[in-house]
Amino acid sequence: MSDWKKRTQLVHGGIRRSQYNEVSEAIFLTQGFVYDSAEQAEARFLDAEPDEFIYARYGNPTVAMFEDRIAGLEGAEDAFATASGMAAVNAALTSMLKAGDHVVAARALFGSCLYILEEVLPRFGVEVTLVDGTDLAQWQAALRPDTRAVFFESTSNPTLEVIDIKAVADLAHKVGATVIIDNVFATPVFSRALEQGADVVVYSATKHIDGQGRALGGVILGTREFIRKTVEPYMKHTGGAMSPFTAWIMLKGLETMDLRVRAQAASALAIAEALQGHDKLAQVIYPGHPSHAQFDLVKAQTGQGGTVLSVDLKGGLDAAFRFLNALQIAVISNNLGDAKSIATHPATTTHQRLPDDQKAALGITPGLVRFSVGLEDTDDLVADVMQALEKA
Ligand SMILES: *Cc1c(COP(=O)(O)O)cnc(C)c1O
Repeated sequence: MSDWKKRTQLVHGGIRRSQYNEVSEAIFLTQGFVYDSAEQAEARFLDAEPDEFIYARYGNPTVAMFEDRIAGLEGAEDAFATASGMAAVNAALTSMLKAGDHVVAARALFGSCLYILEEVLPRFGVEVTLVDGTDLAQWQAALRPDTRAVFFESTSNPTLEVIDIKAVADLAHKVGATVIIDNVFATPVFSRALEQGADVVVYSATKHIDGQGRALGGVILGTREFIRKTVEPYMKHTGGAMSPFTAWIMLKGLETMDLRVRAQAASALAIAEALQGHDKLAQVIYPGHPSHAQFDLVKAQTGQGGTVLSVDLKGGLDAAFRFLNALQIAVISNNLGDAKSIATHPATTTHQRLPDDQKAALGITPGLVRFSVGLEDTDDLVADVMQALEKA
């Protein structure tokens, strides 16, 4: 199985067939499992083998199929599936940290990740230092002998700045810190984060893994030791498990993810190319276009720009709203990685609560629109964005 290329892994990885030998993965919609004898129950509670299940909060065959399939894709020894992306981020950090530990994190984070780092962890005595993730000198200055973990989004939302995984991991490992990466924008298709130095990779499966806007989910990937000895006990007893039904949706999502994400990334690049130099735009940000400030790093790290681009309209908030309201294909919403193209105005939605100075520091201008490119025809998408810009 480990020799399989990614697309084969995504279709067949982790499969467990019941006595009926079904083709499509079964949904084991059960909370518990029956033991043949009292002795078997005792033995399983003492030491359950990987395919011996006890209770769905601890593990379930459909969930295990999803975990093995995504672990095989990412090249991780093991994985733990969670109820949402945020359950995964929270468990990756909280399961390993204790009072007195120090964490260094990049400042440009998804709002809920920032909440965990700024509000939750300090309440339990964990000290957190935030840095500009693209500035290696700031990482270097912030890391200390008591730094237990380093956390960042490899590509930031919504301004699509890219953090050098290898360089940050090298610095972090010198002080013995665990490198935890929220890798949503890189996508599991283009990620090579573990090979580049990450110790733990976290995904919101709600994004490209489902990819069809149906369910919330998340996953933590890492060494068998970290997943089974640190994450599993924490998840088992705190209850953020993925439901078997969600795991089935995510399994089916994985089967088509490579094709979907590559098609979406190709369209994103085509749109970025079509928008270069447009007179209504102050900036087009797409990591996969040579105009991106870190294009060389992107080529080395993921080889591709991903499925999201951002544009900054010269006319500010009014122009951004006119643009959004004129779009006929893309919907106005806040998910990403979906089959449907989705346009978001971060300053008034996802990042509404940030004070103006922080918005400015993160580049979240009134004219900024984030565009998650879907599976529609590329030419239709380019034409739609162009006509909407005319009305902006
Ligand atoms: C969406 C997202 C999350 C949270 O995932 P949920 O599944 O919504 O809980 C965390 N980090 C990043 C970068 C995201 O895009």
